[in-house]
Amino acid sequence: MPELPEVEVVKKSLINKIQNLIIKSVKINDGRLRYKINRKIIKKIIGLKFKRISRRSKYLLFFFNTDIVMLVHLGMTGKFFFVDSKSTKYKTSFYYDINEDKDEKHDRIIFNLSNNHKLIYNDIRKFGFIKFVNRIDLEQNIHLKHLGPEPLSNKYNIRYFKNYINGKKRTIKDLLMDQKFVSGLGNIYVNEILFFSGVRPEKTIEKLKDFEIQKIIKFSKKIISKAITLGGSSIRDFSSSSGKKGSFQQHLNIYGKKGENCSKSKCGGKIKKIVIANRASFFCNKCQK
Ligand SMILES: [Zn+2]
Repeated sequence: MPELPEVEVVKKSLINKIQNLIIKSVKINDGRLRYKINRKIIKKIIGLKFKRISRRSKYLLFFFNTDIVMLVHLGMTGKFFFVDSKSTKYKTSFYYDINEDKDEKHDRIIFNLSNNHKLIYNDIRKFGFIKFVNRIDLEQNIHLKHLGPEPLSNKYNIRYFKNYINGKKRTIKDLLMDQKFVSGLGNIYVNEILFFSGVRPEKTIEKLKDFEIQKIIKFSKKIISKAITLGGSSIRDFSSSSGKKGSFQQHLNIYGKKGENCSKSKCGGKIKKIVIANRASFFCNKCQK
């Protein structure tokens, strides 16, 4: 599932490709995504020019030369391909590879662009969605209005953290996964953040010490930034179908490592697995308290 860093890399690699290109036509192969694509609305974007892309949590917002905004969530398996006028296909992030034989049947929406370029929305499981929203309604949009601050923003700081948890009782794992508290941290990243912070996932938030909160904030930012940097560098060769997959996921320290020794030198602990709110949680029995 594409997480915040993957989506950020999609944003960065796509804008270089599509900026200032005009939508000439749209082909809907299968509009039955999480929300059915409305063919009437699709007509309204013909002739529009892509101006910029921004990201909020795991949502992509495509801005045009009018007030229409295309809001995209990649769901479980959504991805964008860019095809240039020479029919060279490019991937736009590191969490998937190009598979010429199998991709095509999952190409759901094809945007034919100026200069004979194409933007393809591909989604195997169809949990992703594409919606069109007016720019002035964005802040009140149902998907966006309840989102907490971005982990990389200054708003996600110790004062905010302590205010938010004041009087609440829940586990730290549950809190970090809550998009209303901080937006865009997924299960894998939360496991890694808590490992580096030395905090057990099932610890309740009222027991957190200030130094632990500081570490959690610091490592949230560090791990997300690192994943974006690694992800960006791993797709430099965009069209390579054998592209190195998910580079960050090759650097995991705790997630999926049940039974292995702790990777911190001199720790000597073992990695355990528990389930919190139906999600796998991994921790070191020695250095996470
Ligand atoms: Zn350890």
